[in-house]
Amino acid sequence: MLLLENAPRLDLDQAASLTEELYGIRATITLLPSERDQNFLLTTEAGEKFVLKIANALEERALLEAQQQVMTHLCRYVSICPRVIPTRSGAFLAESQSATGAHHFVRLVTYLPGTPLACVRHSSGLLRDLGRRIGQMDRALATFDHPAFHRDFHWDLAHGLRVVDEYRSLIADEALREMIGQLAADFRRDVRPLLPALRRSVIHNDANDYNVLVATHRDTDTRLEGVTGLIDFGDMVYSYTVGDLAVAIAYAILDKPDPLASAALLVEAYHGEYPLTEAEIAAVFSMASLRLSMSVCLAAHQQRQRPANDYLAISQDSIQRTLPKLAEITPDSAEKVFRDACGLSERSRTGAPTKAETLAARRRVLGPNLGLAYKEPLKIVRGWMQYLYDEKGRRYLDAYNNVPHVGHCHPRVVKAGQEQMAALNTNTRYLHDHINHYAENLCATMPAPLSVCYFVNSGSEANELALRLARTHTGQRDLIALEHAYHGNTTALIDISHFKHSGPGGCGAPPWVHIAPLADTYRGLYRNGPEGGQKYARHVMQITERLRANGTGLAGFIAETFPSVAGQIVFPEGYLAAVYACIRDAGGVCIADEVQTGLGRIGTHLWSFAAQGVVPDIVVLGKPIGNGHPLGAVITTPEIAASFDNGMEFFSTFGGNTVSCAIGLAVLATVFEEDLQAHALAVGERLLEGLRGLMNRHAIIGDVRGSGFFLGVELVRNRETLEPAAEEASIVVNRLCAQGILLDVDGPYHNVLKIRPPMPFSETDADLLITSLDRVLAEKFGVLRGKH
Ligand code: PMP
Repeated sequence: MLLLENAPRLDLDQAASLTEELYGIRATITLLPSERDQNFLLTTEAGEKFVLKIANALEERALLEAQQQVMTHLCRYVSICPRVIPTRSGAFLAESQSATGAHHFVRLVTYLPGTPLACVRHSSGLLRDLGRRIGQMDRALATFDHPAFHRDFHWDLAHGLRVVDEYRSLIADEALREMIGQLAADFRRDVRPLLPALRRSVIHNDANDYNVLVATHRDTDTRLEGVTGLIDFGDMVYSYTVGDLAVAIAYAILDKPDPLASAALLVEAYHGEYPLTEAEIAAVFSMASLRLSMSVCLAAHQQRQRPANDYLAISQDSIQRTLPKLAEITPDSAEKVFRDACGLSERSRTGAPTKAETLAARRRVLGPNLGLAYKEPLKIVRGWMQYLYDEKGRRYLDAYNNVPHVGHCHPRVVKAGQEQMAALNTNTRYLHDHINHYAENLCATMPAPLSVCYFVNSGSEANELALRLARTHTGQRDLIALEHAYHGNTTALIDISHFKHSGPGGCGAPPWVHIAPLADTYRGLYRNGPEGGQKYARHVMQITERLRANGTGLAGFIAETFPSVAGQIVFPEGYLAAVYACIRDAGGVCIADEVQTGLGRIGTHLWSFAAQGVVPDIVVLGKPIGNGHPLGAVITTPEIAASFDNGMEFFSTFGGNTVSCAIGLAVLATVFEEDLQAHALAVGERLLEGLRGLMNRHAIIGDVRGSGFFLGVELVRNRETLEPAAEEASIVVNRLCAQGILLDVDGPYHNVLKIRPPMPFSETDADLLITSLDRVLAEKFGVLRGKH
């Protein structure tokens, strides 16, 4: 695809004499900005204004004639188009030669008054008027055609995906490049199937905010606010009719706080003039996003070809600010809003089962103890960074899912998985560089001597393997674990998970499992004082002494460094150091379950065991390292790995497969490149401060604890007795869910709000969470008077 070169440049004197010669008009002349044509503004002594257009010499005559004809056609029906002025000899299109001998076409059109839409504040009325005018124009264009407009043109939305595919790699900003790739992929999946159903006609194709002229209340010559002109007919093409509306929307929503609401004003008004079809309503928002993506891609291309021409650069900043917002809006939600704006009834475009049908089917075919969050279950169909979207396109702020660590559907991770899946996905029985790189990169983040990796498919599998490693290395079976802990869903892991085996349906711990009290300084055995860590560690020591006295050996100790299921607990200082020393003294190994807390979540450290100043013998990784892809890992010392190599082969069919490693690598790189650990620390501080501030207003908040994006808010009925406020916690999370914020409860008494969002969770999100929690608590449980 070739962008046309600039027209041969005329200077002002040459343009003036040309005007006089061809049109008999004497006028003062200034140059107007333009991408392709050279445009001059002429002002006669009588104050009449015209635009002299010198067309690119490469522009086909037929195309210019088509433009002249369409303008003449439109002038019969709408008032916002320029009129073509004939030459003295009656021609609408003149030919001329410049001093350099270059050949070009000349046209003169009436000048339309007004300020570019880009330069004024956009009231709702103005945006509606724009929609109305574009609708009127498209209605008029429905009865016009010209063969020259049936052309292959790079600004045609019908070629949008092609443009993005061809030039996206030229975009320097990586995040922008990725986002545009994601938008294009979404378009391909959600909108391309609709395209064959869209109406086609000749369209203007360039109602951008510099081509739309408006009068505002401030203008002295008119009291009426509205569109006064639409200029630049150089991009006209036979394409999707709704393309005109899409282009107008694309530029009208730049830098808007609520782009969808602004777009709906145009859609509603357009529909009033020239009714849209259902498929057009479904497609138009994504087409607007695609147009902006095309603009970024073509600007990058043009920048390469002609660095001096900055015409396309004019909108790039606002496009780049706006695109991320558009990326958060699903086609479904846009469709719903637009259908509402057009007064159409609600209907699922895809014909997908309703939420009730999905729930009923789930009950039929899935095990009944597969839990569902929230009283009114959510049907989530899409995710993007810290947001989830339901089947109706409603957006939810995800404040607790820690698996989509670098963000739901992070484009870099998605791309890594897609590309590797298309290239190869096989097991560890062949040499491949991905698994080596991934293991090297993971081990590089660990302190010595943790330097050997095993890959599996889940946190449970990783903990199972950790158990086997500990047992094989020590030749012992018994394990010490903590009260209220959860380590996974296999038989052995239920045995060591106090939260499960001592809860409903559990059968208690088998004899080889020894449970130590949870070092919880809020409601545990020891609540205050610098000695807390040592005091809790002494209970572990008592177990090791008892085992020793019984002549029972010890395989090891397992704990999360910040116990999560136990209620977002932060151990007292020195606890793990003292425990690890006593375990090693008893001949056991120390296992750190970092499944929930790893990879920068706590903000201060990449791995949370470092916050306790310890180095485990075995580290277990899961959830975040695959960002939702099933990926688990165990990292241990060469010594333990050597013991494990006892003749029995270790193999996992899927563990360490090529796709998983590509994804793991992408997640790890994203954490570092986006500096997510520091981000978690900074936004986490803001959350902690805000949540602690709420304690002054809400007696129900007994404790706020944690670090980075690993936070707990413990709700109690009484700050002295610490009676757990479980029902209240459930009311709060359900109420917040209804308001579009997702949280959940944890802890043995189900009274701790867990806040562990995807890492892109922003300061604005933090503020929203705090004010929403404040409002819900006030509304449900009242507010404290005075300071507490
Ligand atoms: N360890 C901890 C601390 C966990 O929280 C979990 C899961 N919640 C697991 C292990 C088990 O991981 P998975 O569900 O991936 O098997």
